[in-house]
Amino acid sequence: MTAIHGLLEKKVAVLDQGWVELVDMLPHPSAGVSPDLAVVNAARVSFLGESKGDRRDKRLLFYLLRERHTSPFEMVEFKFRVRAPLLTWWQWVRHRTWNFNAQSGRYTPFREDDHYQPDRWRKQSPDNKQASLGELTTTMSNELSQALKEHYARGHALYVQALEQGVAREQARLFLPGFAVYYTWYAKTDAHNLMNFLRLRLPQDAQYEIRAYAEAIHKEFFTPAMPWTAEAFQQFVLDVP
Ligand SMILES: Cc1cc2nc3c(=O)[nH]c(=O)nc-3n(C[C@H](O)[C@H](O)[C@H](O)COP(=O)(O)OP(=O)(O)OC[C@H]3O[C@@H](n4cnc5c(N)ncnc54)[C@H](O)[C@@H]3O)c2cc1C
Repeated sequence: MTAIHGLLEKKVAVLDQGWVELVDMLPHPSAGVSPDLAVVNAARVSFLGESKGDRRDKRLLFYLLRERHTSPFEMVEFKFRVRAPLLTWWQWVRHRTWNFNAQSGRYTPFREDDHYQPDRWRKQSPDNKQASLGELTTTMSNELSQALKEHYARGHALYVQALEQGVAREQARLFLPGFAVYYTWYAKTDAHNLMNFLRLRLPQDAQYEIRAYAEAIHKEFFTPAMPWTAEAFQQFVLDVP
């Protein structure tokens, strides 16, 4: 079994009770072609050639990424299963080139602990309307966390009460604190669009909650699956000011 095989069995914890796992990829590890080599082979189809040894293959891949020859990177695909709060999904689905399938709240009932409980409270940034900067004191954070817990418990109690009164699941969920509810999705994309997601969601100006998923995918799946591409991506995209 190769190291890439192992990625298909990995589940990485994110936030308080979220996670991300890789359920499938193209090329599948059993094909015996690494994802980096799949990129190189796709580029070489232009002149019907394949691998020319590691040194030349890696040089070609770096050239492709640096010069934004993007389509060979679309030959590699990642299918993740992700559990994340809805506020993260709301941002993730804006990446229109991804394909998604979501758990249905019309079908599955929610449990009281299906809510995101942050471990710290960030302050509003004074000069960036979309960002946070610094953290509240521990005392204030503890009070807010307790208030949030009570809010979740009350919302869930009203949800259960509505269900018991015969309200449909699709409508009873109006009682749940929407942004906080954990949902499980399939999320599939190719390496080119995954790099676009990482480029936008790894920086500090991305919201912490989606950044945590981007960091997990970057470190635990993308880099080990595509070490040459990850190195070139770091050099030509992430490290460029
Ligand atoms: C820090 C931050 C703040 C943000 N704030 C907001 C916000 O306030 N409101 C908001 O609505 N969004 C916001 N977004 C989302 C942002 O506008 C993008 O929708 C999201 O980041 C996806 O980026 P993308 O379009 O490059 O990716 P994808 O949607 O995956 O698209 C990748 C590329 O494919 C092409 N493409 C995709 N779909 C089409 C299409 N239909 N037609 C033509 N070309 C297409 C484009 O070239 C695009 O760059 C924010 C994103 C970030 C990172």
